[in-house]
Amino acid sequence: MIDSARLGQRFEELVKIDSLSGCERNVALELEKILTEMGAAVCFDSAADKVGGNCSNLVAKFKGTVDAEPIFLSGHMDTVGPGEGIKVRFADGIYKSDGTTVLGADDKSAIAIILEVMQVILDNHLEYPPVELIFTVCEEIGLLGAKHLDYSLIESKFGYILDSTDTRGIVTKAPAANKITIKIYGKAAHAGAAPEKGVNAILVTSKAISGLTLGRIDHETTCNLGTIKGGVATNIVPEFVEIQGEARSHDPEKLEAVTQGIVNAFYTAAEEFSPDSRTQSPRIEAVIETDFPHTHICEDHKVIKLARKAAANLGTSMESRTIGGGADANIFFSKGIVAGVLGTGMTDVHTLNESIALADMENCARLILEILKVHASGETY
Ligand SMILES: [Zn+2]
Repeated sequence: MIDSARLGQRFEELVKIDSLSGCERNVALELEKILTEMGAAVCFDSAADKVGGNCSNLVAKFKGTVDAEPIFLSGHMDTVGPGEGIKVRFADGIYKSDGTTVLGADDKSAIAIILEVMQVILDNHLEYPPVELIFTVCEEIGLLGAKHLDYSLIESKFGYILDSTDTRGIVTKAPAANKITIKIYGKAAHAGAAPEKGVNAILVTSKAISGLTLGRIDHETTCNLGTIKGGVATNIVPEFVEIQGEARSHDPEKLEAVTQGIVNAFYTAAEEFSPDSRTQSPRIEAVIETDFPHTHICEDHKVIKLARKAAANLGTSMESRTIGGGADANIFFSKGIVAGVLGTGMTDVHTLNESIALADMENCARLILEILKVHASGETY
């Protein structure tokens, strides 16, 4: 029933509309038009101001034909750069860009698949449950759309986000992450005339970092210091360094321990320079922010069982996956909405080699269609 040519054509149309993070308006207006013509009730929340973009999150509701629990399908409208003026190439069943931009299959493939599934249902008058489509903005720059989504618009308690590669896997576990910003205040002095009057913030920073273990801490915990800024000139003892990093873990206690370990290393290094470092230089300021909370979906949750049942009906399987990254699903999960993340086949995302096979998109569309059919049928899964 999935119309491969129509799916491919829609995918091409969508990737040709530029939609870098914060500039999703043009693609959103196109989606609003398509979905309204399909009979959905379309609205936008008011996330645009909060994310500093030109577009808000789009929510479209299809009433359904059966009295079943509502279910949502979601993807993000923004792409990473370089992503303007994308020229699509199609050969041997594979979509690629011309090599000067990303393709934007992350995440336009999701949107094309979801539209195709809804079109098939409507054209064939299939029974289907109430479906909410959630197309977010600014996913790629810190899940900002999901963080500022108006959750009062969403009735569904479970559903699927199409935003990974693997068409045979569903993400059930994703870590929580903290963002860490540490400011090291030393004291400036002329490096030649009076170096003893200075406190070298770079030296304090390096002593703190040299004692740390970074990278993979264990099978479910990682940390990284990713940027460092500081110093003004070679003849000035540097008075300021700012360093930014992150920690991730599937275990909240480990996340806390690793985060504190990093911060404490800086306080300890400062104290070694001066016992009064809480009041005089070198002085440390640390800010820890929750970047995203963790996702942990039980194996017997209906979102997993429904995907497994649908895959089995299609003669394939669905494996649970653990990932190391965050996605809109993490934010939804923290709002009490359980989202299984499914793959569309997109590969080498965030690179100029990004590609996707039309066959993978078709398979994902078949799976989503089957998920909606099984859910609408009322049978247990
Ligand atoms: Zn994505």
